[in-house]
Amino acid sequence: MGLVDGLNTVLNALPARWPLPLPASAVIVTALTLAINSWVTLDMAQDVATNSELLSLDPKCQFTSFDYIVVGAGGAGMVVATRIANASSSNRVLLLEAGGEPSILNDIPSMDFFLLNQPANTWIYNSTVQTKACQNCDGKRTLTTRGKMLGGSTAVNFMMYVRGNKEDFNRWATDAGDNQWNYENLLPYFKKSEDYNGAYADDSSSTQYHGKGGLLNIATHDYMPGADEFLAAATEKGYTIGDYNGENQEGRILSLYHNAPIHIPVKLFLAYPSVFSKIDVTTQDGWRENTYRAFYKDTGKPNNLCIKKYAHVTKINFRNVEGKPRATGVTYQRHNLTRTVTARKEVIVSAGTIGSPKLLLLSGVGPTSHLQSLKIPVVKDLPVGQNLQDHTYTIVGPFMKSPSLNPNRDVTVQAATSFLLSGSGALAAPAGLAGQAFFRSPVAQPDYADLQVVQFSVALYPELPRDLNKFFGIRTDILENWFDPYNKENTDARFLVLWVGRPKSVGNLTLASNNPQDNPNIDPQYLAHPDDTEALLYGFKKVVDLFENSTSLNTPIFPKPVPGCENLTFKSDEYYRCVIKNFSGSLYHHVGTCALGKVVDNKLKVKGIDGLRVIDASVIPRTPNANTQASTIMVAEKGSDLIIADM
Ligand SMILES: Cc1cc2nc3c(=O)[nH]c(=O)nc-3n(C[C@H](O)[C@H](O)[C@H](O)COP(=O)(O)OP(=O)(O)OC[C@H]3O[C@@H](n4cnc5c(N)ncnc54)[C@H](O)[C@@H]3O)c2cc1C
Repeated sequence: MGLVDGLNTVLNALPARWPLPLPASAVIVTALTLAINSWVTLDMAQDVATNSELLSLDPKCQFTSFDYIVVGAGGAGMVVATRIANASSSNRVLLLEAGGEPSILNDIPSMDFFLLNQPANTWIYNSTVQTKACQNCDGKRTLTTRGKMLGGSTAVNFMMYVRGNKEDFNRWATDAGDNQWNYENLLPYFKKSEDYNGAYADDSSSTQYHGKGGLLNIATHDYMPGADEFLAAATEKGYTIGDYNGENQEGRILSLYHNAPIHIPVKLFLAYPSVFSKIDVTTQDGWRENTYRAFYKDTGKPNNLCIKKYAHVTKINFRNVEGKPRATGVTYQRHNLTRTVTARKEVIVSAGTIGSPKLLLLSGVGPTSHLQSLKIPVVKDLPVGQNLQDHTYTIVGPFMKSPSLNPNRDVTVQAATSFLLSGSGALAAPAGLAGQAFFRSPVAQPDYADLQVVQFSVALYPELPRDLNKFFGIRTDILENWFDPYNKENTDARFLVLWVGRPKSVGNLTLASNNPQDNPNIDPQYLAHPDDTEALLYGFKKVVDLFENSTSLNTPIFPKPVPGCENLTFKSDEYYRCVIKNFSGSLYHHVGTCALGKVVDNKLKVKGIDGLRVIDASVIPRTPNANTQASTIMVAEKGSDLIIADM
């Protein structure tokens, strides 16, 4: 009998539930911060000892000139650096990342709920004060956390793998003025990264839409409390169940509609079809699969790629060549030293939707008037930071329905063991994510799905207000007041996180000062466009109807009105609009600040500058109706090929 079998025999003899002696949520929150701080301190010490600016034991790093310099090792940068290093061993590649090695706690999927607000390995940004949304958030600002480590935000995100609607990418092609950016031509780049083992791997059309054998594992998981009922209720309502990354995000019914000979009557009859599904995630054997792990750590480390951790790039340097600026390298701060490195061929900025525009602006690439107001010499006048888009969420529910995840009850010794031994159970799943759906609201323009909703099966437990505060920035006192007394009684519950997939509100990012250490001003203008509230209102009512009027769910919405909306008629449109205004904020899907067609051209080169590209979520010109890591990784695959073609 092997060790694993032996342990399982012992565990099977124990009572079914063997809870930890203290509330798990309290233990996790305290221990996690301590553990992450210690991890980063040790990692930094090891980095100073083995790969400092004064003495590097790594032969790949002992240069001050490289062919390519990539800034930021996140969702995109990690892909770009490894792909271009592997493409030609004669090219020397330098990857500069402000953070360090992700901690082992970042790799446990269920910890996602607790990973934000960790100053040691996240950038903790807040939006400016919002007036149309987020009124119940701390200071009416929303949290805008990003990952600061190898893997970037893919090391803190919720791991959902969702590509977007075909039409999203067809619109990108229009923005780029290049059909190479349409869905048909981008699908191979989605497939290239993937090793698809998700919920729809056995579908007959799986190979047409999914990749096999790529570096990024796409999986599903066995712990989605209440997902089956959610899907059963959807079936009752006539919605389609299916693969949202496959033929159609809106289900088979849509193709009937599009191909119908008599268009208008069919449209009226079949209005607003939706697809419901289980969720595919980026995990491998139950552990988080961030881009650092997928593209570098677990799959070969190119010997011409130098990675410098804890390197904060503060400036891109330029030289004037025949009247045109050319990027020649970057300046960075690392372990209290400032260094400059040169790039013989290209600088690639992959610092993310907040980091990339910030670095470009600090370097003189951006709107002239803004740069001049900060006394930054202008290199190139471009609308950097001007097209900020994000998904605005609202919370529907809670619906007091079991089963759901209660960390104090369900994080048990058995759960830990089943995670460690077989990569399954509550710890191997993103916390509480249990099914999702897409809807098309009446204000959708063009006329395809513009809403996404995720069932978040998390119980009302005593520490939930504090945990939601860390997760979404919603005020703890308001949540405590609202949930009382149900959270003190540990009541099973489901929340629905509903968001505008194609927001019409557009915000902007500007520098607060010319000091690279200062956070930028991030103004997403959440719900500034009235259609975004109307879209959410439509989705809100659809979800309430699903829970209240299906036999599979059959649960009324939480009886206590949301604080701040008590004076309005409960469940009226005005009441729901008030809930949306109060409970709304960032879903952490920022894109667009260095948009394709506006700041970068169809080859992702910064317009009017040589030797400089941006490759990350910031180039996405319109947010897809989906979470953004899949499309960012796809952009990185495409961008890498564009660089390789020019080598
Ligand atoms: C909390 C959270 C939850 C999310 N959930 C999901 C989800 O479930 N599914 C999904 O699809 N998407 C999700 N996303 C979004 C997804 O993770 C991002 O879209 C994706 O990671 C973007 O990749 P990127 O390369 O553009 O930026 P990032 O992944 O943020 O990487 C940027 C990197 O650049 C580094 N950097 C920044 N500035 C500098 C500098 N000056 N010098 C050196 N390095 C620098 C950063 O430290 C970071 O490592 C989530 C994001 C967050 C934050």
